[in-house]
Amino acid sequence: MKTTLITSEVGFEATGKHAGYLRVPHSAHRSAYGWIPVPVVSIQNGSGPTLVIMAGNHGDEYEGQIAVSNLARDLEAQDIRGRLILLPTANAPAAQAGLRTSPVDDGNLNRLFPGDALGSPSEMIAHYIETVLMPLADYSIDLHSGGSSLFYPSTLLRGQGYSPEESNALQRQQEAFDLSYAWVFTSGGGRDSTARTAMGAANRNGVINVMAEFGGSGGVTPEILHRTERGLRRVLHSLGMLPDYVPDPPHGTREVNTQGSIYAYHAGLFEPSKSIGDAVAVNEVLGLIHHPGTPLQAPEQINSPYAGFVLCKRAMAQVVRGDAVFQIAADAQADKVPQ
Ligand SMILES: [Zn+2]
Repeated sequence: MKTTLITSEVGFEATGKHAGYLRVPHSAHRSAYGWIPVPVVSIQNGSGPTLVIMAGNHGDEYEGQIAVSNLARDLEAQDIRGRLILLPTANAPAAQAGLRTSPVDDGNLNRLFPGDALGSPSEMIAHYIETVLMPLADYSIDLHSGGSSLFYPSTLLRGQGYSPEESNALQRQQEAFDLSYAWVFTSGGGRDSTARTAMGAANRNGVINVMAEFGGSGGVTPEILHRTERGLRRVLHSLGMLPDYVPDPPHGTREVNTQGSIYAYHAGLFEPSKSIGDAVAVNEVLGLIHHPGTPLQAPEQINSPYAGFVLCKRAMAQVVRGDAVFQIAADAQADKVPQ
């Protein structure tokens, strides 16, 4: 098996708090022997599980990047039991550019797992996470948002678990995170996962893992950032890793299954007539696509093939055929959720 060419300035076996960079070799015009810095922080003290928290898997998703760097500054080794490994900007070139994908290699990190030890920088980062960090982890959390094009309320995403113990652990993480919604996948999640995502990497390594969507629209929402930071501390506390934290009463989480995404089929300007959380009936008109460049052309209607409510909405007005404009979810079916 090919081994990584990435070296870490941080030793993951060292106790205490250590910050540095993963050095991703990258020979470029301006730097023949250079490397790309991917920030990493390890905080270790006493006995306890290892939790990997990463954000900036997509570079234009910001709440998680801020929350993880805040955690890195706020927590000291004596606060922690176990080992916390933080990657605030996993695909650092994408985060630096404020783009979903890396400007270095056009890599969409969350579509590149299990990566390639000798591949492009994004592929090398995926491979490092899959083959070096995940084998260290008992738990992992991958923080996303709707990015530039979409907006989500605070939403946990998780599998069902494929053993009673794993299902229980995932349920406990969901309750600890205490986000507005929990999108429970109805399939996948085993050791044989072929998913190209960080969740797939975690599942292949037997790591109990969740991901979360927080906000989006290419900005930062204070209320959702607060929910992110509160949720991370609550999860740390629930794992016994942050013993002195005192969680406030939970708000409660609405458990949902997604019904599907709705796409623009015409180029133009998208006018939504529904907001996040609004109920949706089958065939209901959810919005219009306008054509101001052809003013006498009537707008097209966007109809819903699904019943449920709006979980996610497009943030940008301009659309072309194939752009997702809504994602519709419905309350989780009891037979599709582990008891
Ligand atoms: Zn993302």
